[in-house]
Amino acid sequence: MAKEFVKDVTSMDEDFAQWYTDVVTKADLIDYSSVRGSMIIRPYGYALWDNIKNELDHRIKETGHENVYMPLFIPESLLQKEKDHVEGFAPEVAWVTHGGSEPLAERLVVRPTSEVLFCEHYSNIIHSYRDLPKLYNQWANVVRWEKTTRPFLRTLEFLWQEGHTAHATDEDAMEETIKMLNVYAELCETILAIPVVKGQKTEKEKFAGAKATFTIESLMHDGKALQSGTSHHFGTGFAEAFGIQYTDKEGKLQYVHQTSWGFTTRIIGALIMVHGDDRGLVIPPKAAPTQVMIVPIAQHKEGVLDFAYDLKKSLGQVARVNIDASDKKPGWKFNEYEMKGIPVRLEVGPKDIENKQVVLVRRDTLEKVIVPLDQLDTKLVELLDDIQSNLYNKALMHREERTSIAENLVELKETLEAKPGFIKAMWCGELACEEKIKEDTGATSRCIPFEQEQVSDKCVCCGKDAKQMVYWAKAY
Ligand SMILES: [Zn+2]
Repeated sequence: MAKEFVKDVTSMDEDFAQWYTDVVTKADLIDYSSVRGSMIIRPYGYALWDNIKNELDHRIKETGHENVYMPLFIPESLLQKEKDHVEGFAPEVAWVTHGGSEPLAERLVVRPTSEVLFCEHYSNIIHSYRDLPKLYNQWANVVRWEKTTRPFLRTLEFLWQEGHTAHATDEDAMEETIKMLNVYAELCETILAIPVVKGQKTEKEKFAGAKATFTIESLMHDGKALQSGTSHHFGTGFAEAFGIQYTDKEGKLQYVHQTSWGFTTRIIGALIMVHGDDRGLVIPPKAAPTQVMIVPIAQHKEGVLDFAYDLKKSLGQVARVNIDASDKKPGWKFNEYEMKGIPVRLEVGPKDIENKQVVLVRRDTLEKVIVPLDQLDTKLVELLDDIQSNLYNKALMHREERTSIAENLVELKETLEAKPGFIKAMWCGELACEEKIKEDTGATSRCIPFEQEQVSDKCVCCGKDAKQMVYWAKAY
């Protein structure tokens, strides 16, 4: 890759953290605000989120859910109703203590998540088996007072959707939990071109108050894992704490079985760290706000701009197309849209017009192809498809290369240092081993994958009989 084009971005291999920071700011995704750990999502970053949101919202509705909106504030007493839940979130909640200059009679929490609000509401509106299931979702912001923050990955405030559902039976709730995990996985793989590992969280890593937490885990370019979406089965724990009961067909009073599932702006961090390169972002076509950027060459020459605008109009039928007709130099524009990760650049100048052709440059491989005008529609659609699948395959190959097996703790530690990535290792199921692994190696259990393999018979830590294979990794 020609280094001279990239003047301001740190190379990924030199300093991955700095590369990430450079990219999120130079690609105009975010700006910092005056509140520590808070970010301003700029138009390009928000357009990206909008696309992801629309894709997911459509899937959420297609699976029978309705959108609602819950309040931003939670009374302290309400948060404290479920013991594990409050313990899990207490260290990172933001409190509202005053209204104007008047101290409040009861402190309010700025929602870190909305379980308790949904539970209180459900206890008021669910009475009979006829009221079930309740399949609600909300798009909202939440606040968690994090100590260390990074744009998209960990911020005091972030955007997400949280689904909250109530069901008549445990089986129904379980089916819902897995259904929504699969929706997240499909979204990641087909739209964001991010391969994921599906599995269950260990007891230690599960959501505060859940009976079971399921997750999709993805691997970043630097070999660290990122939890990309979670789906929780609550059982009747919250229902018991909040008194959410319904009368069944036999007239008996029963507790509902609940789920919740969330997907956040963190995923933009994953998108950056899975596909990006030393020139900046690389956005998969299906997620890209602009799929094709037209850069006119010698645009002052007669007819060039008219031609370029006509192309924008006609190609707009098959792709999301934009044009940069500003008087900045073409070289500046090339760098800018490479930095922004726009999948295809279309160059057109007087010679191309004369030869009835255009030049397409793909962002993922930087390959140039000359395409005759009469084939442009079809070739462009093919190219976008090819970029989408190439990015997915590249990410999958990278994950496979960075997935190792370890049979003991020394091996686990050495492998993590030599080749950071996922480590598949057997586990006895004991918390003590999970904690020791984290302490000795810095790796946490990412998930107990649905697709189990018997990579050894013994626990990677204590050497006793193993129960399950676990994916371990250092994580964001
Ligand atoms: Zn063990």
